[in-house]
This record gives sequence, structure tokens and C-alpha cells, in this order.
Amino acid sequence: MAEHSLDFNHRPKPPTAAEAINALIDTALVAENGTRPRRDYLGGSRLGDPCVRRLQYEFLDVPRDPETAFSGQTLRIFAVGHVFEDLAIGWLRRAGFDLRTRSRAGEQFGFSVAAGRVQGHIDGVVVAAPASAQSVVAVPALWECKSANARNWKEIVRRGVAAAKPIYAAQVALYQAYMGLTEAPALFTAVNKDTAELHHELVPFDGALAQATSDKAVRVLQACDAGEWLPRIAAEPDHPECARCPWRTRCWS
Ligand code: SF4
Repeated sequence: MAEHSLDFNHRPKPPTAAEAINALIDTALVAENGTRPRRDYLGGSRLGDPCVRRLQYEFLDVPRDPETAFSGQTLRIFAVGHVFEDLAIGWLRRAGFDLRTRSRAGEQFGFSVAAGRVQGHIDGVVVAAPASAQSVVAVPALWECKSANARNWKEIVRRGVAAAKPIYAAQVALYQAYMGLTEAPALFTAVNKDTAELHHELVPFDGALAQATSDKAVRVLQACDAGEWLPRIAAEPDHPECARCPWRTRCWS
């Protein structure tokens, strides 16, 4: 009689504790994110995006390609960024900088233009520097903080924010313009998420960049109002910007 060996390999494996717990956390985070009210304005932090078509998708709340919906991990990455920003605020204050991040009512400072269709919320304003830094940091200065992995952080340190991250430079210029903080260079702080190293860069106001960024916002809004699509950034979907774009399938189908 032929031997029958029992094959247990096809039974679904029960999830490990880590998998089960993470699935619960991710489900909760994604559900919570789904209840957030839709943003019905162009965010100043996004206007440096090199693709105007993508800005239209964002403004019009066009659904992302299903496989690119925000995952629990992506939402945790956003949350970790906020923690680094809070830490940087504390570190600068301990060093003697008078850094204001909220109004007396507890609200973030910001601006709203074009009948509320372009808005931005700033990380803070340095209103006074400690005596030993007053020759370096003029005030009042817009403060912008980003956290980055080691590779991106080193790139910012090496090349400067304008060359390494033009999208941040556009944000800084626009925010300086709309907040009336153009006299003193902005203070841009970058936190290395891997090593906790800090980088600070003084970013002089770039009026041409602020104007170009503001003009881009007007162009995006006008096209959306007219029901027209602005040109794609590339002629082919394998362009690096498209390869990681959440609207790639929709855009090129
Ligand atoms: S797929 Fe490419 S062209 Fe289309 S919105 Fe995204 S980045 Fe722009």
C-alpha cells in the first residue's frame, strides 16, 4: 500500500504577532486618514512640484491609482516627520532661539490667497536669535523644517536646498513672500532621520522663484476652472517623475 504523507504546507500560516498587530494598526491609520476632510486648496508646500498635471489631479481630488493609496506605513512616515519637527523646535528653543510656531489661539501661522484656493501653513518664525548667533541669523526669519533619510539629508548638506530639493526651495520662497518675511534669509533646518544630525541653511529670498511659483498656482487653478489639462511633464510614462506618480496609470491610460 502506498504511503500517504500528510502535507501541512498548504495550510495558511497563522499571522505572527507582529503581522497581526501591524495589520490592526495599519487598518486603524488608513481608516482615520479616510475621515480627514478633503483639502480643497492648492497647498503651498506642493507648488514646487515639477508636474503641473499632477497638481491638477491633487487640487481636483482625482482618485489615485488604487495600488498607490496611502498605506499605514506611509502614514507612519508622515507622523514620524512631525515628531522630528517637534524635536527640532525644542532643540532650537533650548539653544536660545525665540521660535514661534503657533498663534496665541494655538493655530499654525499661515496664509490664504486666491479666495482661499492657495494656502500654506508655515513651520514657524524665528523672532529672536541668541546673542552669539545674532551676526549669523537675522530676524524675523521664516523657519522651515524637513526630516530626511541619510542619503537625502547628505544631498541637501552637499548641494544646498535649492539644488537638492527645488520643491522645498519653491515652498520657502512662496512662504516668505506671502508671510512678508523677505528681508531676512529663511532658516531651513534638516534633520537626518537615521543619525539625528542637524543641518541649518540660511536661504535668501528668491523673488523670481516666488513669482514663478505663484504664477504656476494661477495657471493650475485657471486650467482646472476651464476643465483643461495642462501638459504632462514628460512624453513617456517611464520618466522618473511618472514612475513614482500616484496617478501614473490614470494619467497615461
Ligand atoms: S504620471 Fe507623469 S505626467 Fe502624469 S501627473 Fe504623474 S508625473 Fe505628471
